[in-house]
Order: sequence, then structure tokens, then C-alpha cells
Amino acid sequence: MFFDRAEMDQSPDPDATLLHAPFMGAALRLAEQAVALGEVPVGAVVVRDQQIIAAAHNRRELDADPTAHAELLAMRQAAHRLGDWRLEGCTVYVTLEPCPMCAGAMVLSRIERCVYGCADPKGGYLGTLADLSQQPGLNHRFDVVAGVRADEASSQLRSFFRALRARRAAKRVKRD
Ligand code: ZN
Repeated sequence: MFFDRAEMDQSPDPDATLLHAPFMGAALRLAEQAVALGEVPVGAVVVRDQQIIAAAHNRRELDADPTAHAELLAMRQAAHRLGDWRLEGCTVYVTLEPCPMCAGAMVLSRIERCVYGCADPKGGYLGTLADLSQQPGLNHRFDVVAGVRADEASSQLRSFFRALRARRAAKRVKRD
């Protein structure tokens, strides 16, 4: 099943969870908004000096854009806002472990840290399939905190896909 294995692997220390939980909460609320728009529920915020400077949810369907992932959109927004492509001192909070593209963008933008919710066994590049944050040879490394409010993030995703499967099954029954 989807995120079960990853959930078992994750046990962030309690202090990290306490520190990061409120910002992850903001990302989870954005993910919830995405559901109403028919998007896979992934939300992200960028935080600098304990303030949210950018926020986005997944918009792949809305924008018909395969790269419109929550954390990538939030990082773009943050760079605009700062007037600088370097996101030094920034932490990206995202409900699902970033894919290779987004993890790559985190290297390019030189973020300080990524905090994510549940792991993605099918695409996660910050510890699951690979770890771009500590890739030898790349010119930037950053901290990763995994598993913050992972249960909430994975249950959002699971219920989204459960509803999607139910709708598809209902359509098939109608046609028959
Ligand atoms: Zn991505």
C-alpha cells in the first residue's frame, strides 16, 4: 500500500516535531484546499526568520503543468518575494517527500532545510529512493527533517486516492 512502509521507517525526535508542527500545519491546510480543486493534496510553505514568506499547493491539473508541484511553486514565490534566487536561511515545509525535480530545485536554490511529512516510496528523493540533500559532488547540502505530522499527511493522500478510485468505479458501473 501507498505510504505504510514509509510511515514505519519514520520516527522524528519529539523536539523536532514540536518545533516544526505549526508550519507543517499550514502546509497541511494548503493540501486540504487542493483537494477541493481536484488536485492531489500536497501543500508547502517557505519559512524564513520564523515567518511564512510563501505558500502553495499542488496545481498540476489546474495549470496543466507537470512541474507545478507545491514546493516548487512555493520556492519560486519565495525567490520573487526576496528578489533573490538564493533561498539561503529558508526552510521549506512540504507535506509529502519531494520528488527528484523539487529536491534538485532545493539544491539549486540553496535552502537551509527541508521538513517533510510522509515519505514517498514511489518518488521520494530526500531519503527514500535517494537523498539529493547529501549528494557527493553537488555544490550545496541541506538539512532534512522527515516524518513531521506524517500520519496526517498520508491520511490526506490516502483518502484522496480512495475517493478517486470510488469515483472511477462508479463511472465504470454506470457504463455497464
Ligand atoms: Zn516535486
